[in-house]
Amino acid sequence: MVWVLDSTLREGEQTPGVYFDKHIKLAIANLLNEIGVDIIEAGHPVVTPEIHAAVKSIAQKGFKSIVGAHSRSLKNDIDLALECEVDFIGIFYCVSDERLQTVFKKDLETAITQITDVIKYAKSQKPNLLIRYTPEDTVRSQFENVVKAASAAVEAGADIISVADTTGYMVPGTNRSMYDYISNLKDEFAKRKLFPKVAVHCHNDRGLALANALDAYRAGVDIIDAAALGLGERAGIVDLAELLVVLSVDHNEQRWNISKLTQLYDLVSKHSGIPIPANYPITGKNAFTHCAGVHTHAASINPMHYESLDPNLLGRERSFALDQMSGIASLRYALKLVGEESMDDEHQMEVLKEVKFVGQRGRTVDLSELKHIVDAVKHHKTYNK
Ligand SMILES: [Zn+2]
Repeated sequence: MVWVLDSTLREGEQTPGVYFDKHIKLAIANLLNEIGVDIIEAGHPVVTPEIHAAVKSIAQKGFKSIVGAHSRSLKNDIDLALECEVDFIGIFYCVSDERLQTVFKKDLETAITQITDVIKYAKSQKPNLLIRYTPEDTVRSQFENVVKAASAAVEAGADIISVADTTGYMVPGTNRSMYDYISNLKDEFAKRKLFPKVAVHCHNDRGLALANALDAYRAGVDIIDAAALGLGERAGIVDLAELLVVLSVDHNEQRWNISKLTQLYDLVSKHSGIPIPANYPITGKNAFTHCAGVHTHAASINPMHYESLDPNLLGRERSFALDQMSGIASLRYALKLVGEESMDDEHQMEVLKEVKFVGQRGRTVDLSELKHIVDAVKHHKTYNK
């Protein structure tokens, strides 16, 4: 059973220009809880007093979802997160030789001591706290450094080790495969008799975040990070709706209320100012709209001819639109839907001509506009006999 961690409120707010007011954060968290995501990463309390206050009020809601905070490997960050009464803290620190030497001017041993001291401190303050340690840019750091730091973190009390593809560098089927990475890391832990949960955080710089997350799933990863609309730094991370639908529909992990995803996406889109592209899977305007003539005709007989997902699962409805590609069969089907099936052939050809005219200008005709065209054609015919 895989867990899903939603980071819309933490990673998502790192999208350039995105800021959610506290009441919007609460509304988003409410929906995430209703959907049933396993962990809500609510923010990094040290960043601003507003984020601190938002994390605290979300943690105090008594959700079924575990509420967590982000934290650097510093006691002060841990104290601020604990003040918010969270049950999960995600700590991060880099382990790559190059980064340690040039940015932090310290060696790996010193870094590991800092990481483990902070983990031990956090556990001593709240023993049932879930602690995740993330070696930043895990997949591009020396593997032996990752194993060394992560093993020390687990021995110090970390429950989860997260593999971060911070720059969206991994490519399935190559020597940069997430499947191989997770498998090798789990083997190293097993050799040391350590069995932390392993999480994966995939960025989407190559458009492969979901593919890499599913590669990690195949290797038995325990937690997958995602965000509504795939929001996050640069090209963002795994899209929550796509991930939950694939896990629910195709991997039989039916634990989430996916019918609420459309509502969540509308809310997040409105308050992030990031529009949902019309052709976006699952939540996009066109995701269940059939248009081309032969598609509409076949889909009107049996929708599964041109659908592999049932829109009802997502609380959505199938729709039909007409444009310059539409033929007489699609038009007749659409006329039936608007109660105009008795229209004679001559009128139908007139209506189709108008539909194609609209379509050629780059628009589609939905059923309500079709009704207007029908009325106009009838009117015209009546007065021009
Ligand atoms: Zn990230």
